[in-house]
Amino acid sequence: MGACVAALLARAAVGGAALRVALIEPHAPQAPAAGAPPDTRVVAISRASETLLRSARAWPAIAGPRASPYERMRIWHESVAADGAGVLVFDAADVGEPNLGFIVENRLVQTALIAAFIAAGGQLEPAQFSSLTIDADGASIATSRGALRARLVVGADGAQSAVRAAAGLTAELSDYHQTAIVATVATARPHERTAWQRFTKTGTLAFLPLFDGTSSIVWSADEAVAAALSGASATDFAHELDRASDLALGDTRLVSERSAFALRRLTAPRYVAQRVALVGDAAHVIHPLAGQGVNLGLLDAGALAQLVVAAVAQREDPGSLRVLRAYERWRKSEIALMAASIDAFDRFLAHGSGPLSRLAQRGLSWMNRSEELRRFFIRRALGVSGELPELARRAS
Ligand SMILES: Cc1cc2nc3c(=O)[nH]c(=O)nc-3n(C[C@H](O)[C@H](O)[C@H](O)COP(=O)(O)OP(=O)(O)OC[C@H]3O[C@@H](n4cnc5c(N)ncnc54)[C@H](O)[C@@H]3O)c2cc1C
Repeated sequence: MGACVAALLARAAVGGAALRVALIEPHAPQAPAAGAPPDTRVVAISRASETLLRSARAWPAIAGPRASPYERMRIWHESVAADGAGVLVFDAADVGEPNLGFIVENRLVQTALIAAFIAAGGQLEPAQFSSLTIDADGASIATSRGALRARLVVGADGAQSAVRAAAGLTAELSDYHQTAIVATVATARPHERTAWQRFTKTGTLAFLPLFDGTSSIVWSADEAVAAALSGASATDFAHELDRASDLALGDTRLVSERSAFALRRLTAPRYVAQRVALVGDAAHVIHPLAGQGVNLGLLDAGALAQLVVAAVAQREDPGSLRVLRAYERWRKSEIALMAASIDAFDRFLAHGSGPLSRLAQRGLSWMNRSEELRRFFIRRALGVSGELPELARRAS
């Protein structure tokens, strides 16, 4: 996310002059090698994020042979058959779009953004952020390689953000008591450029279509179930996966290691302080079941870059609280709404068994029957609803 804000700002010329932007990143990744199998960490890039990445000039490096467009989503609850009525289907064709987005490796997005930032004249600092001192004129930043001075510091350093702590900002944490298992699997039937998601009583299982015909699975399960799945042999794991997926894609076979992530929700009550703004996971971490973490962070980056450029054009201090609070108001309400909706899906569809859960399960098939409701949710999946940063809006 830091690379996205940095690339957008480095490209912006205000009154003919470029902004001076440095990106502090100790672990800049290498792009995946041509022909290498897909990384296990992949993300679903929405249309709004794609547009933003185009604005940052990062998209051409992402949209190559390793990007996998997905044209439809099939969502169902374990109480109905995978191929029966009651399966909610979102199809890009219903809204005249070629696809709903792209599944890409997280590393490819990171390397493309860093390359775009450098091409725009940005300064990459391969260092670790250490500390921060704020005064009336600017911020002094100490890193493992030296010192920098800036009018604005963007904390895009993830859930354990050191910038957040150094600025005296806090974070509220709550535990879902679930673990996400991520892996790549081969399936007997082709994925048909479709993202598949099944809600079960112990969690949510998603299959995301990859460029080489395999699928990335994100299986968010209650801790005890996930621990057993992580410890199972590859054959037993595939067997459990076949049961949990109701063989929607036929028999499965693990073709990568399994990675496990404990799932926690994180909310920073304040995203900003004098001369400091938080973006991405440093400000908010949500449940991965809707695959929206990266998309929300990219839109944070677009919103912040837009407000900073506007402030500089007005000869206003981009690190002032007036400018940064406008960013916080804009993004906090969007993210609170998204986080609450995803938590409701998790509570009622993935875990619940009471009357509200049964209602939610029936809701999936009702939704499928209403073209208008389906279109509404497709627009949300494309990320083209809500108040978008200018750079994330598609030119018509
Ligand atoms: C299992 C799982 C599946 C997910 N699936 C999806 C998905 O399908 N779609 C989606 O949109 N999101 C998904 N997410 C969420 C997504 O991965 C995160 O929201 C996203 O990676 C956050 O990006 P970030 O840049 O804010 O933070 P991070 O990715 O954590 O990056 C932080 C950066 O800060 C740097 N850094 C850290 N400390 C320092 C320091 N002291 N000095 C300098 N640099 C530092 C690190 O090197 C790193 O580059 C998933 C999450 C999980 C757990």
